[in-house]
Amino acid sequence: MKQYILGVDIGGTNIKIGIFDSESIELIDKIEFKTPKRDQDQSIFLNLKSEIDQLIKNHKLVYEDVIGLGVAVPCPVKNGYVFSCPNLVWTNMDIVKELQKSFPSNIKISVSNDASLAALGENESLDMPYKNAVLITLGTGVGGGVIINGNIHEGSMGYGGEIGHIRVFDENEITCGCGSKGCLEQICGTHGILEYTQKLAKNSKTSIDMNRLSVKSVFDAAKDGDNLANKVIDRVAKYLAISASILAMIVDPEVFIIGGGVSRAGSFLIDKIEKHYKSEARFSSGHIPFMLAKTGNDAGIIGAAYLVSQQIKKSEKTDAW
Ligand SMILES: [Zn+2]
Repeated sequence: MKQYILGVDIGGTNIKIGIFDSESIELIDKIEFKTPKRDQDQSIFLNLKSEIDQLIKNHKLVYEDVIGLGVAVPCPVKNGYVFSCPNLVWTNMDIVKELQKSFPSNIKISVSNDASLAALGENESLDMPYKNAVLITLGTGVGGGVIINGNIHEGSMGYGGEIGHIRVFDENEITCGCGSKGCLEQICGTHGILEYTQKLAKNSKTSIDMNRLSVKSVFDAAKDGDNLANKVIDRVAKYLAISASILAMIVDPEVFIIGGGVSRAGSFLIDKIEKHYKSEARFSSGHIPFMLAKTGNDAGIIGAAYLVSQQIKKSEKTDAW
């Protein structure tokens, strides 16, 4: 009998659900709906249940056909427990316990951080997954996930992989969303890229139309040889390389995977990061390659499906869930 796994990615704006073959973790179908804004400690779980009910009905399945539910959430998670989630109104919640109230007990439930699960999803989607890998996601924020021996690294409190908040510079006094200063995200997040472009444009010429400034326009100008735009992207690449060189001395990964919206800049960005990385890296860690993420916006649901699949396989060996 064919069995299925559900992978869910709960974001601040949208919630995505994928249904997967439990053996191959092949994505069969996915749906997306708006994250409810009110009473999120209850409404998210109620909406999730009714959407999943509909999805499995659409595929003429019943809950007995589903063996696992993996869930990615946008905040630090430790063993399914969330202390605080700035993107959702959740504090001190056992997400696994909340979900178990809604679903039959035959369905195993696993929950972890979205960027960590994106790292797992990206890595496991490769023809030959790496044992140790680091994903850095570049978008509005800078996030990341660390894979050690094939498993996501949550750490003791769930902060494992919060790469965007590594302190890498002392240049200004602006406070980051985390309450600290000098974070990688302040340079390489969308806001940091645009702010630095505007700062340089006050005193230098550029081909960028400053009235229609976007991260894409900065990359496009850089690719066309605009000096100012290249200075901006070079700074992004340099600080990403510094952060990667720090991570290499802790994780010693076989690969760095670059994902998120900004990574659409493609090999142009990867080449620049690698150039800086080779001069920043210590010992022989300079050989660690950088590659672009491939699963796009589905990385979270794919990673969530892999997480619960991994945990089901482990529990079959140890007889413990
Ligand atoms: Zn920060």
